[in-house]
Amino acid sequence: MINSSPADWIHLDIMDGVYVPNLSFGFPVIESVKKLSEKPLDVHLMIIDADRYLEDFRDAGADILTVHLEACTHLNRTVAEIRNLGMKAGVAINPHTPVSSLKNILPYIDMVLIMTVNPGYGGQGFILDSYNKIAELKNMIETAALEVLIQVDGGVDLNNASHLVETGVDCLVTGNTVFAAADPLDTIRRLKYF
Ligand code: ZN
Repeated sequence: MINSSPADWIHLDIMDGVYVPNLSFGFPVIESVKKLSEKPLDVHLMIIDADRYLEDFRDAGADILTVHLEACTHLNRTVAEIRNLGMKAGVAINPHTPVSSLKNILPYIDMVLIMTVNPGYGGQGFILDSYNKIAELKNMIETAALEVLIQVDGGVDLNNASHLVETGVDCLVTGNTVFAAADPLDTIRRLKYF
C-alpha cells in the first residue's frame, strides 16, 4: 500500500525501553521492511548508546538516520559518523528542548525532527507550542542559508497538516492518522496534496 502511495519515505520508530518507556522492534524487522519497500527508510532512533549501532542500522537498510539530541553525549561525532556511513543525518529534539540548542549542530545535519508529542507512544495529542519552535527553527535555517529539512512527528493529522507546512515543515510523519484510517491510501494522498 505504501509503495503505491505518494508517501516519500517510510518512517520507522526504534524504541529501546530505556530512553523511552516503550519497546518497538529491531534489525530483523527493519531488514524485512527494506526488502519490501520501494521507498527510502527514515529511521528514528529513540535509544541510548546509538553510536554502538550506527553501522548496523545502515546495514539493515536505513537511508536516513535520526538520533535524539538529548540521548547523545558527543552529537557532532555521532552525526559525522552517520554521514561517513553514507546515510543522511537527522537530529530529533523533545518537546522540552529549545530550538536554540541546535544552533551549533545545524551545519552538519540534513534534517531536524521536532517531536510534537513526548516520544514513546502512538496516538498522542499534538503539543501546540510546537508551532513556535517550527517557526523559530525555520528562521534559524534560513538566516544561516542552510539546507536542512524540518520534520515533525506526533499528532499530525488532516486538520493540522496544511498549517504545519505553512509554518515551515518539510516532512510530516504520521502513524495512526494513516494506519487507523478507513482508507489509508486516500489519507496519504490527502496529507500530501491538501
Ligand atoms: Zn518517529
